[in-house]
Amino acid sequence: MIYIHIPYCHHKCTYCAFYSNAGRREEQQAYVDAVCEELRQRSGEQSDHPIRTIYFGGGTPTLLPVELLSKIVSTLRNLFDLTQLEEATIEANPENLTSEYLEELAGLHFFNRISIGIQSFNASDLKIFNRAHTPSQAIDAIRNTLQAGFQNISADLIYGIPGQSISIWKENLQQIFSLPVTHLSCYALSLEPQSILWRQVAAGKISMSDEEDVLEAYELLLQEATANDFAQYEISNFCKPGMQSRHNSRYWNRTPYLGIGAAAHSFDGKCRRWNVADTRHYIHSISNNESYYESERLTEIQSFNEYIMTALRTTVGIDKSALPPIAARIFDKQFRPAVEQQIQLGLLTESATHIIPTHDGLLQADGIATKLMVDE
Ligand code: SF4
Repeated sequence: MIYIHIPYCHHKCTYCAFYSNAGRREEQQAYVDAVCEELRQRSGEQSDHPIRTIYFGGGTPTLLPVELLSKIVSTLRNLFDLTQLEEATIEANPENLTSEYLEELAGLHFFNRISIGIQSFNASDLKIFNRAHTPSQAIDAIRNTLQAGFQNISADLIYGIPGQSISIWKENLQQIFSLPVTHLSCYALSLEPQSILWRQVAAGKISMSDEEDVLEAYELLLQEATANDFAQYEISNFCKPGMQSRHNSRYWNRTPYLGIGAAAHSFDGKCRRWNVADTRHYIHSISNNESYYESERLTEIQSFNEYIMTALRTTVGIDKSALPPIAARIFDKQFRPAVEQQIQLGLLTESATHIIPTHDGLLQADGIATKLMVDE
């Protein structure tokens, strides 16, 4: 499982606190060379072998010309066993997905899934977010993607946008379900510290939506998804039968992965490591053999807590056989009573193999997780 981070964006969306920069073409070329070099240096590290999923995320990977993406793809093909590759995703923004670009991308014969950051089809929403695309570009992007031969298309939408009425949200949902997407990620807008939106809210220029309105939007999402044959498999993720994101599902199962590029995170089953979030520093360090990452070995308790936190956000829930070893020691005294309490509140149910969030439980997943987590 490999994640490649491309941290370039034309300009900053107001809600975004991810590391990204505009990056000139010369820097992008040097960055791609550094990514290829990191892949070479780390190709012996244990993630899953052979590789089953690869994900190009950002930033905006489709800001790179296909010629540069092709360099990374060739390096991957040369270094790794990709004979069992099931899913290769690239994140994209609508303004980049012209027929010409998609035709070149399809020519790599590598990506079989495209994840498009639509966020909204409404012009006012897009303006609040300072997105670089128009509503019609978003629609064209999805149609162009299918026409170029990509059948597995995911779209991201955001609800709870300041000023977004429930009828605008309904129109967004109707629009997305009328298009040929197989997967949908819908996020409630969250106020990320240090984002432009965060500063606008702090200055009193914009007000966030009420919690009740956000909840109403979520319930409408559940209804529309069901009516359109999309099943929920995680709090924010929905898909047509069999079209789950394999890559993301494997993150939630704590599968080890290599994260390559500036600001990318990696996990080898025991340690998490994160690369420096600065493209110039990253490029310089890779070419001069200097250190460019920090790492942390997780304690058993941290591993347990991480698993609880992610599993409770999925409709599959906690797989009892996948609980980290520490669970055996705390099971009867601490974990079981906490689970029982949540079952009595109607927030969890239990089968022989799993502990599963109910409809209300999924909504309160983070709160339940804190009740089940163990203190260090
Ligand atoms: S939301 Fe995506 S496109 Fe917008 S600035 Fe953040 S990473 Fe870039």
